[in-house]
Parts: sequence; C-alpha cells; structure tokens
Amino acid sequence: MKKCIACGKSVLLTDEFNGKTFCKTCSLKMHLPFWKNKLYSDMKELESQRDKIINNIVSQGFLEDAIACVKEYFAAEEQNGFAYGQDGGLGQTIKVYGNHCIINTDKNKFDIDEVSKEYVKTVNSTKPKTNFLSDPEFQRSLVKGLSSGRFLKTGIGLASTAFFDAARKEIIPEKAQITVQYTPVYVRYTDFSNIEFANAAGENIGYLRFFNGNNGAETIFFFRGTGKLKKRMPIIYAYINECLSKNISNNQLQNSLPYNSSSEHNIFDEIREYKNLLDDGIISQEEFEIKKKEILKL
Ligand SMILES: [Zn+2]
Repeated sequence: MKKCIACGKSVLLTDEFNGKTFCKTCSLKMHLPFWKNKLYSDMKELESQRDKIINNIVSQGFLEDAIACVKEYFAAEEQNGFAYGQDGGLGQTIKVYGNHCIINTDKNKFDIDEVSKEYVKTVNSTKPKTNFLSDPEFQRSLVKGLSSGRFLKTGIGLASTAFFDAARKEIIPEKAQITVQYTPVYVRYTDFSNIEFANAAGENIGYLRFFNGNNGAETIFFFRGTGKLKKRMPIIYAYINECLSKNISNNQLQNSLPYNSSSEHNIFDEIREYKNLLDDGIISQEEFEIKKKEILKL
C-alpha cells in the first residue's frame, strides 16, 4: 500500500501531486486541491502564494519530504521561466513561459459552435473574406482542429498542410472533419515563425494564433472580450512576441555557425522536453515512446 509522504501513514485514497502521494487528510490540510491546478496570473502572484503555502506547511509540521516536494514544484515553475497564466473565459487557458506556452482546452467548457462562429466573425472583420471560411461545417472543423492542437507540428497527428490544401480546394467539409483530442498543447516558440494577435473588440472574441509558414503547423488560443482581458492580452502577446523573436534569432545564429554540434544536442534536448511532458502527465508513456523513436529515427 502507498504511504502518504506528509504524515507517513498508509493510504487507500490518495492525492497525487508533483509525482508524490499524499493522503486526503494531509492534502486538505495543505489546501492542495485549491492550489495545485491554479493558474497564477504572473510571477509575482506565484511567488507570494508559494511563500504563504510553504509557511503554512512548515508550521503544520508535515514531514520533510512533503515540504521538499512543494518547494520543488514552485522551483520548477520558476526555472521554466513562468511568466503569465490566463483563463480566456471560453474554456481555454494559457500558461506562458520564456520558451514555450501550454494551452489547455476544457472539453466541458469549450463550445465549438459558439467559438467557431465568433472566430469567423473576427477573421472576416480583419481580413478579406475567403470562400472556405464561410461554410459552417468547415468553420467547426477548423476551430476543432486549431483549439485541440491537431495542427501543431509537435502535437500528435494530423498533417496540417494537407488539411489546408484540401480546404483551399474546397473539398467537401465532411472530409475535413477531424477527431478532437483535448490534450494540453505544448507550444514551443522554436516551432513557430509567426504569431498573430487579434484583440477582442465589441462583440468579437480575440485570439492568439501561432503558426509556421514553412510547414503549416498552427495552434490557437481564444479569449472573450471582457475589459480585463482586452487590457491584459496585449501585454501577454507582447511578451510572447519578444520571446519568439529572440528564439528565431538564436536559431538563425546557431544554424549559421560552422562546425556546431547543436543539431546533436537538440535531439536530446527535444527528448528531454518530451520526458518533462511525460513526467508532468501531459502526454502518455506510449506517446512519449513514439516521439522518442521518431526523434532518434529508430
Ligand atoms: Zn497524510
């Protein structure tokens, strides 16, 4: 039987946190369910919460392992360069780091019909109208794909270029239907050449769209037009845009250096990143093995 790392007792009903086991009693005393999935709005909030939480845990006299586990969790967030967390109000949340974002779509809250309709309105108001965007079924498929990360190169699945080609040729929308997988989407800035931002205006929803002009990889974060988000999203966008530009220039620099061994390192860095995703429970063991084989070209 598993043991609680906070009190040392054997437990049947457990609460897992950061790869460790806690009993329900300790978990509640630590207010773990309250903050373990919390989206901190920025680094400052995370730091002040961390201090409160750790003080509380230390003063309640839990075992060292539990205290270390919580400290590790917050240290990792900081080391990963956590910058912003935001709920878009439409069923998607975004967590922004210095070199990547994580976009989560909650299938119970995300209303494809509503978002697709609103998204097309926003696109049509900012760009010349396109034929394939006017078909409601196609709009649905498009938004389904974008929001579930199926277009993302690093995601699991679909070749987005083929999908867009099909769309351009105006193939029957049914054929463009795709299965949705609401897994968190890990957006590495190095995978994207561009970011497009449309702030919410009036009734229109806003979006933050990552895309790669070379391979058609694409993913999107939608947000509602509340006053708070209208002010906050441009700040988040500016931050990501800056990080993205830095990443691109670093890449170009690396690629232009003669005799560099960066490509070799990148392979292992990439596997390590997937390992982190596995450890965080974002991808399954099976998905990890597939990715590893792909990267190592086994
Ligand atoms: Zn316990």
